[in-house]
Amino acid sequence: MLLVNRDLSIYYNLQLYQGEGGELGTIQLLFSFSVMLKTMSEVNVKLGLKSVLSKIQQACAKREKECCEVNPRLVAVSKTKPVESIIEAYEEGQRHFGENYVQELEEKANNSLILESCKDIKWHFIGHLQGNKVNKVISIPNLYIVETVDSKKLANKLNNNWPQFGGVAKKLRVFIQINTSGEKEKNGILPSEVVDMVKYVTNDCPNLQLDGIMTIGQYGYNPADGPNPDFLKLLECRKNVCEALSLPLKDVEISMGMSDDFEQAVEMGSTNVRVGTAIFGYRPKKTSS
Ligand SMILES: *Cc1c(COP(=O)(O)O)cnc(C)c1O
Repeated sequence: MLLVNRDLSIYYNLQLYQGEGGELGTIQLLFSFSVMLKTMSEVNVKLGLKSVLSKIQQACAKREKECCEVNPRLVAVSKTKPVESIIEAYEEGQRHFGENYVQELEEKANNSLILESCKDIKWHFIGHLQGNKVNKVISIPNLYIVETVDSKKLANKLNNNWPQFGGVAKKLRVFIQINTSGEKEKNGILPSEVVDMVKYVTNDCPNLQLDGIMTIGQYGYNPADGPNPDFLKLLECRKNVCEALSLPLKDVEISMGMSDDFEQAVEMGSTNVRVGTAIFGYRPKKTSS
């Protein structure tokens, strides 16, 4: 609607500029083209979602049965995308959404349209969480999980503050983020620290419910070059965790796979793929902060 309004005003301005009896053919064409574009983008969120879901199903069918008892969950990553797009995806049946900027998540989750039309929405926080923003995130309405716990300090703070916001009856779901590629600029604990960290959260953070582990992985890996080394690393981490704590594999989720590689991730056993671009379309790179 916003886009249409803006273009309408451009249209009228141009009309004024052209004066009475001016040649309006091209301008009218431009106007209807922009309406068409808007309509196309509306269709595309639904089509994008359908296409991703069907690719997930196809990838599921290729998995080895014993490693994958859990059906993968699709998290629609809506960062930088408008509330309207979220509602469109919700109307199509999507429930899990991911955001990685605290302020943006706060605004969207408290948006009155979202609160009204998406009562069953489930938010995943998937960005880097600083200690001073913990309370903002855990007071988000319909927060489902914090996927990016990357230090004992952060786990502690979430654990201590959660009862104030979520109550004691319900625990706060978390994943531990692992830096599987070892890149310096990436957040996450090292694979060698994961067992210790899992024990810490399980034993010392009674208000947290540890659901699994997640990785972002190296940017730009081509799935055609074979199994993604980051995915292999995360699978190995889960194996170590399950052995150390005598847990069945199905009790530890693995969050891996984005637009470029979610099919391979699902084939390898991912239980939680985080997909943005393939659903909501191109997203300009954030230039600052
Ligand atoms: C942005 C983002 C995604 C989604 O990326 P796409 O390539 O658009 O699918 C997934 N996970 C995290 C942590 C992200 O920040």
